[in-house]
Amino acid sequence: MPAPYTSDLAEQLADDVLARFLRYVRVNTQSARGHNGSPSTPGQLGLSRMLVDELRAAGLDDAELDQNGYVMATLPGSAGAPVIGLIAHVDTSPDAPGAGVEPIVHRDHPGGPIELPRKGSVVEPHDHRGHDIVTSSGDTLLGADDKAGVAEIMAAVSYLAANPGLPRPTLRVGFTPDEEIGEGATLFDIDRFGAQAAYTMDGSTLGEIQDETFSGIAAVVRIKGVDIHPGFAAGKLVNAARLAGRIVAALPPDLTPEATSGRDGFIHVYDLRASAGEAVIETIVRDFDDEKLQGHVDVLRRIVDEVAASEPRAQIELNVEPQYPNMRKHLEAHPEVSAAAERAIRAEGIEPINEPIRGGTDGSMLSARGLPTPNIFAGGHDFHSVREWVSVQDMAAAAAVIVRLAGEWAAPG
Ligand SMILES: [Zn+2]
Repeated sequence: MPAPYTSDLAEQLADDVLARFLRYVRVNTQSARGHNGSPSTPGQLGLSRMLVDELRAAGLDDAELDQNGYVMATLPGSAGAPVIGLIAHVDTSPDAPGAGVEPIVHRDHPGGPIELPRKGSVVEPHDHRGHDIVTSSGDTLLGADDKAGVAEIMAAVSYLAANPGLPRPTLRVGFTPDEEIGEGATLFDIDRFGAQAAYTMDGSTLGEIQDETFSGIAAVVRIKGVDIHPGFAAGKLVNAARLAGRIVAALPPDLTPEATSGRDGFIHVYDLRASAGEAVIETIVRDFDDEKLQGHVDVLRRIVDEVAASEPRAQIELNVEPQYPNMRKHLEAHPEVSAAAERAIRAEGIEPINEPIRGGTDGSMLSARGLPTPNIFAGGHDFHSVREWVSVQDMAAAAAVIVRLAGEWAAPG
């Protein structure tokens, strides 16, 4: 049975997308939290330099890597055409092993689970019978997030560069570092990029177009107790670890990521370090609605205040910092941006899926800073784990969608 490509164009792009993808995932580009400088790890520069060389080889002569690790390049369109951006991130998640990735291509997937050679890892690609599935060897992540997006953009712009007769706007390519640690948009030079709208290729399932993300806040509770030798502690010890335990236990159990889905937000306690003398509770607070988001922060604040009031000898403080905004309010003024992507997805024979992202993307910050940037599927699944997988046919479909999107912007309306 022939592999299920969405179009002849996708089939034509598939070999190039896969070859690039297999090359890129072998470079260790894991980002690291708590490191100074951009990018946070030197491995990312290895891939970024490779991409600059490949962009130049494809004819994007101005490709360059800036001092913060951002790659930008131009594929010129006809005079007067709009300038449209294509963005993906080169880094991979720090949450699973990312060094020494050895990708495996499982041709013509017969359905059912795929057992990987290492660590007993099992991948379950649902609804992908007959596809060519790429996995890791089982002991590392794959890096489809977001090297699938990088490979799709590279294959699409190379194809467009080699076929100058195809309609297209001026395309600006941007590859960012450190998306996984929330810094991908931080040093992105929007003025130099010079696009009127852009797309991140960083979604998951075939057909996804996302123009709504969570709004995110980081909330950290710091507790200072009074640490005394337990043998002499009567009436004096104020145990920060116990106070931290009371705060965490008092958080509503239905306001967690494990108990919510769809449009409901949460408070997620992701790190807790505690001793008798000091404790730190690190949380992220998420919602699609800014008022509800504030409500969740108020819940946390009320609990912190109650515990603080019950033990005045302790010092307890709550630190709240905005992380990223829901992109919807910034995209509403530019409905043509998502509409062009939906038409391109339909032109590839795929029904668009528009569901809000329970997370953020580089596009959340970029949209807030004035560059409308919705997110398009890149094809990967089970991100940030050793079970990560991607279908070659889905990556080829995404690359074909980019080619069709270029056509949409060349002839708007
Ligand atoms: Zn990503």
